[in-house]
Amino acid sequence: MGFPKKVKNQILVLCARHCCVCHKNVGLNMEIHHIKPEAEGGENTLENAIALCFNCHSFAGHNYNNLHPKGIKYSREELFLHKAKWIKMVEENKISSKDTLVELSITNKGSLKPIFIKEITTYIDRDSWKRVYEILGKNPMELIDEIKSNSTGDFYYRNIVNKIETYDQYIDFMNGDFPEKDFSKMPDIKEVTNCQPLNYLMPSMLGYNYTKEKNLSNCILDLKFTNYGPEVLEDYKLYIIFDEVVEIDSVNKRNSWDDIYKYKYNVRFIESNKAEFVPEQNVLVQNDSVIIDSICFRTDYKTKYVVIKWELFARNFQDEGLLKVPISPTFEKSEQTRFEINAKGMKPKTRILPKIVTT
Ligand SMILES: [Zn+2]
Repeated sequence: MGFPKKVKNQILVLCARHCCVCHKNVGLNMEIHHIKPEAEGGENTLENAIALCFNCHSFAGHNYNNLHPKGIKYSREELFLHKAKWIKMVEENKISSKDTLVELSITNKGSLKPIFIKEITTYIDRDSWKRVYEILGKNPMELIDEIKSNSTGDFYYRNIVNKIETYDQYIDFMNGDFPEKDFSKMPDIKEVTNCQPLNYLMPSMLGYNYTKEKNLSNCILDLKFTNYGPEVLEDYKLYIIFDEVVEIDSVNKRNSWDDIYKYKYNVRFIESNKAEFVPEQNVLVQNDSVIIDSICFRTDYKTKYVVIKWELFARNFQDEGLLKVPISPTFEKSEQTRFEINAKGMKPKTRILPKIVTT
C-alpha cells in the first residue's frame, strides 16, 4: 500500500529533499523507504519513513541483495539515527530543498582568526587640560602655532601638524588620533605583508619618526566556485558582496613593493565591498570548479561572522546565494598605556586594537 501522500510530503520537507544518509541534494531522485519493512509489520507512518537517494536506498535493509553482499548494509537502527541527525541538521542550518546548481564555498582554514590586542588608552580630559592653559593665561591655539613653526624635517609629520586647526584636533593629535588614518595612508615599503589595505604609518607621539599603527588585523579568505548544475555556464559573471568588513581587497602577492602590477588577480573590487570574479575562461562546465584568488579583509573585534552575498549571471542562468564566513577573534593580553596626563577627571578607556596576523 505504501506511505500516504501526507507522510511522503512531511518527510520530504523535513529532510529538505536531501538524502538522510549521504546528505546529497538529489531533488526529484528521492525514494521514501520503510525503515521497518511492511512485510514485517512496518507501518506507513512518518516515524517509519526515511528519505533516501537511489544509491543509498539500494544499500538499505530489505533492498539489499543478500545473495551478493557488498560492504555493510544500513541497519534499521542506523537508518533511524541517520534520519534524526539529518532532520536536526536541516533545521539548525536552515537547509533548503532548492536544488544546488552552483555553489560558492570556503576552502581555507585558519586564516579567519584575527588576533586583537587589548590596549588601555588614557585620554586627556579635554576641558581640564584647557583650564590649565587658562590658569597659565595661554591660548592653546598659540601652542598649536608654536608646534607648526617648530615642525621641521619629515614631510609627513609637517603635513599633519599643518592640518591642526582647532583645539580638539590638537588633543586628537596628542592622542595620536589626528588626522584620520586616510591622511597618513601610504605604502609601508619595509613591512612584509601580503595584504595591501593594511599599510598605514602613523606618526609617533614624539615627533619625527613613524611607528606602525597597530590597528592591523587581517583575515584571508579563499573561495571556490563550483557548477553542480546541468548547464554549462557560459559568459558568466560572478559578483561577491561582503558585509560586516572594515576593509577588503584582493591579496597582494607581490614580493617587493614595486612589483604590484606583475600579478594578475582573478578577483577585483569594483566597489568598496563588492568584488567581481574575472575568470580566465568564461565557460564553466558541469562539476567543475574555479579557485578565486585570496581575498583579504579586516573585521571589527566583535565580528563573529561575515556574510557574503554572491550573484551569478550567465547567459542562460542566474542565481544568487549567501555564504556565512565564521570569524574567530582572539585577544592577546597585552596592555599598555598610550598616553598619560595626570589631569583631574581623567578616565582610562579601553580600546581594542587588532594586530596583524601572519599565516
Ligand atoms: Zn544517499
